[in-house]
Amino acid sequence: MHNQKKIITQEKILTGDRATGQLHLGHFVGSLQQRVKLQHEYEQTVLVADLQGLTDNGHNPHKVSSNILNVVADYLAVGIDPLKTTICLQSAIPALAELTMYYSNLVSVARLQRNPTVKNEISAKSFGRSIPTGFLTYPISQAADITAFRATLIPVGDDQLPMIEQTNEIVRKLNHIAQDDILVECRPLLSKMPRLPSTDGKCKMSKSMGNCILLSATDKDISKAVKSMYTDPNHLKIEDPGQVSGNVVFTYLDAFHPDSTFIDELKVRYQNGGLGDGTTKKILEECLQNTLKPIRERRDVFMSDKAQLIDILRMGSQKSQEESNQVLNNVKRALGLNLFN
Ligand code: ATP
Ligand code: MG
Repeated sequence: MHNQKKIITQEKILTGDRATGQLHLGHFVGSLQQRVKLQHEYEQTVLVADLQGLTDNGHNPHKVSSNILNVVADYLAVGIDPLKTTICLQSAIPALAELTMYYSNLVSVARLQRNPTVKNEISAKSFGRSIPTGFLTYPISQAADITAFRATLIPVGDDQLPMIEQTNEIVRKLNHIAQDDILVECRPLLSKMPRLPSTDGKCKMSKSMGNCILLSATDKDISKAVKSMYTDPNHLKIEDPGQVSGNVVFTYLDAFHPDSTFIDELKVRYQNGGLGDGTTKKILEECLQNTLKPIRERRDVFMSDKAQLIDILRMGSQKSQEESNQVLNNVKRALGLNLFN
């Protein structure tokens, strides 16, 4: 049944995560849950993006290298199965860096500077006038990743939409030059929670901003994070009517609580007045602890066998090298760079 669907649709999934830290609840609802489902239906590759992690950590490569296996353990802990999903390491696949170089000639600096996600990140990271070249150009490297696997469907958070748009621009330009459809266009697959806010509600939960609830969070970590969560600043007394919109506790309850009818009733009670933030936070705390406990326990087991994690990554990277070399060869041929073959 599953195989039949694979053949009919011929969708190919590619997605990944920067190796800049452990994965968090934003990854879980934004992309990981979708990947676990999709792996049963489609061919899927998941990339640990260490090269991309270096684009804003060039002077601190240890931050990236020390997180590669953390990310793999997070994948396995949420249920990504290496027998169904190819898990690979970006730096072990030279074709990705080569494709990035070829594509970079098709993208202007002005176009990169207009990319809204890159623009926001540049200002959040306070680069000033010292933006690393690799950072400005990372959307091109993402285009290389996506096209190298002929991916058509990309399960991502909404911060990645501009990258997909830029990828498709590169695909169209290259295909126009080649006068052939050598690269395929892709489309995003957003989850019901495409941007989980940070616990203070100020921005997206991000590894690099240190505002995360990690998948490895202990009950105590969860409790501390939930207690500090932004709610409705005007909801001072329990009997006051409260705002649900923009209230991070309700955003998380919507994202993680299994009983949506119960949460809808809770919202009405909160809006009418008579329900305190202490109560809603207690419900969320329990819900997150129940969600993360089995993940944390599985993660601990996977982290205790690093050799197994390395083997999974090595096997996936070897398979990915073969796939991506084919696309690289097609691109080189299209550019007339095939003198030796
Ligand atoms: P960094 O701060 O290093 O950029 P990050 O937390 O933004 O890390 P990425 O590795 O950049 O994580 O993102 C990996 C994937 O997870 C992307 O598809 C991204 O859209 C998704 N994602 C990241 N954060 C969130 C979030 N808060 N809500 C929903 N999806 C998210
Ligand atoms: Mg990011």
